[in-house]
Amino acid sequence: MTSATARAPGRVNLIGDHTDYNGGLCLPFAIAPATSTTARSRGDDRLRIRSTAFPEVWSGHLADLTLEGREAMPDWVRYPAGVLWAAREDGWLLPGVDLVIDSELPLGAGLSSSAALECSVALAVGTLVDRPLDPGSRHRLAELCRRAETEFAGAPTGGMDQLVSLLAKPDHALLIDFTDTSVRPVPLALREAGLVVLVTDTGSAHQLVDAESGYAQRRAECERAAAALGLPRIGLAWPDDLSRLDDDVQQARARHVLSENARVEDTITAVTAGDWEAVGRILLSSHVSLRGDFAASTPALDLAVETAVEAGALGARLTGGGFGGSTIALVPEERASAVQTAIDTAFAAAGDPAPTHLVVLPSAGASVRTT
Ligand code: ADP
Ligand code: MG
Repeated sequence: MTSATARAPGRVNLIGDHTDYNGGLCLPFAIAPATSTTARSRGDDRLRIRSTAFPEVWSGHLADLTLEGREAMPDWVRYPAGVLWAAREDGWLLPGVDLVIDSELPLGAGLSSSAALECSVALAVGTLVDRPLDPGSRHRLAELCRRAETEFAGAPTGGMDQLVSLLAKPDHALLIDFTDTSVRPVPLALREAGLVVLVTDTGSAHQLVDAESGYAQRRAECERAAAALGLPRIGLAWPDDLSRLDDDVQQARARHVLSENARVEDTITAVTAGDWEAVGRILLSSHVSLRGDFAASTPALDLAVETAVEAGALGARLTGGGFGGSTIALVPEERASAVQTAIDTAFAAAGDPAPTHLVVLPSAGASVRTT
């Protein structure tokens, strides 16, 4: 085989934010917009990487796939090149390749364009070199992509995005338990219930790579809270442990992680019972916790959430980490455009840039096509 094209979707996280790297639970689903990568093997040791999102074509060699070599790469190249690097670390025998990347996802909007990119590269290249890519093997592939993003692109991520992009099923969310990264599909029959999820991108791109970013700070605070309790990760604490944390900030961050875990479980119970009003209430309490205890919201995210609920959403929350990026709202299908308009109006009145919206439903995971 000389050429393969893979398509890997973005995702929204229905609930369970900042739980992945803390050893907790999250419940994302894949969305229809995706990133496609075509990989062609070459007869030499060269690499060429092109993305329709950027003007330049990057050229290099297999020998550049080292942690030192990445320093000379443009930021965006570190994501696809990082997958090639992690694949070689995992023992893949790679030829030189040409990669052509094309995405339907907005970059940096919290819809996980980064994992969609990594997973499409990994699946396309894995197909070229005959790696096993069945559902069982995809779990390992997700870890390879997570490593690429964390160690090569320099953006510490917990692994949720890669797992859901590779393992999602239509009309299902994917429960991920980060104590052991096990996954379980959870039926999420939004379509049947006449509901959609409205994603609103506030336009303020969140920034995950920067060590000074809010995300990196929160991660460090959670690590300190876990260390103070003698635990490897704060998600393993019991609610009673919180009072043993002397530091108020650490206590608040830990309280968010533990309460968010409980909300993931409550969401599954409510979804299974078809109690969508309850799901909406839980989403809203997640936002309150992310805004208060976790201090990960922004005025624009708060405005989108409050306006959505006033305009008829059952519930809403920031999603994908916060500090900018997107919100989701659970909305009866016939109210979706009224909720969008209400948010647009509220943003205009506040003098904020116009947000962009996307209506999504739980969609299929990544797929591959060979030629
Ligand atoms: P998100 O994953 O929420 O979209 P991230 O900050 O995690 O936001 O990832 C965005 C970064 O991933 C971009 O700034 C770029 O470096 C890289 N990226 C994502 N999609 C593409 C693409 N189609 N082409 C090139 N780079 C991309
Ligand atoms: Mg990302």
